[in-house]
Amino acid sequence: MHVKLKKKYGQNFLIDKNIVNKIINLINQDKLNILEIGPGNGSLTKKIINKKPKNLDLIEIDKDLVDELNKTFCVYKFVNIINANILKYDLKKNYDLVVSNLPYNISSQVLVKLALMNIIPKQMILMFQKEFAIKLTDKKLNAINSIINCFYKIDIKFHVSKNCFKPIPKVNSSILKFEKLNKSLIRKNEIEDFIKFKRYLFSHKRKSLKTLLKKLKIKSEFNSDIRAESLKLNELIKIFRETNS
Ligand code: SAH
Repeated sequence: MHVKLKKKYGQNFLIDKNIVNKIINLINQDKLNILEIGPGNGSLTKKIINKKPKNLDLIEIDKDLVDELNKTFCVYKFVNIINANILKYDLKKNYDLVVSNLPYNISSQVLVKLALMNIIPKQMILMFQKEFAIKLTDKKLNAINSIINCFYKIDIKFHVSKNCFKPIPKVNSSILKFEKLNKSLIRKNEIEDFIKFKRYLFSHKRKSLKTLLKKLKIKSEFNSDIRAESLKLNELIKIFRETNS
């Protein structure tokens, strides 16, 4: 593939075959409905196809790469190549699995978009900057894990050195596997308010919960000096529900 790299699209292609195989080995079923975001030059895509998906949608923003992907993958009837920006694309399908190695500056936005889909993907295998992966799996609550953990159980599978990419990025990466919870911790009609609530708490994370709740004029049984980050997620949700009742 001889497409000029575009910095603005955060293009760092995974070139280490061993890592590609390790990622693909996390797919443990065939006949899945799969979405790959930012397939790039298709190094993961080729191997996903070996896993015999029922359907594989590829969403890639770069038109030049889409042309190349079309040439390579047009022989497969179950592959749909879509030239779009994932952040603007209206995701309507019901996916069993999302696979992606995306630019890190949009990690958070894409992840929230996926977790808030009408029918959320059952599983996701996503590559993130190592620091972001650690934040997502941190025992302490923060602005991002407090929302994503309402829908998914998250495991760090392995770390990936920056030397596995071309061009070599500045940061190391991690592969995370997301498994949809049997029952989401918050209901659809609570999501919007919950996001506002956690945003408020974590944008003042140095203040105690007592102070923050007082500002909202809320009396809570969790009226102690602890900070929001030290709560368990179900405690945070309980307090949220009190504030909304
Ligand atoms: N998955 C490939 C490419 C990773 S580079 C690999 O692992 O080698 C990131 C890819 O995401 C690039 O192909 C880039 O063009 C694409 N991309 C960047 N922003 C995007 C967006 N908003 N929507 C869809 N694709 C995007």
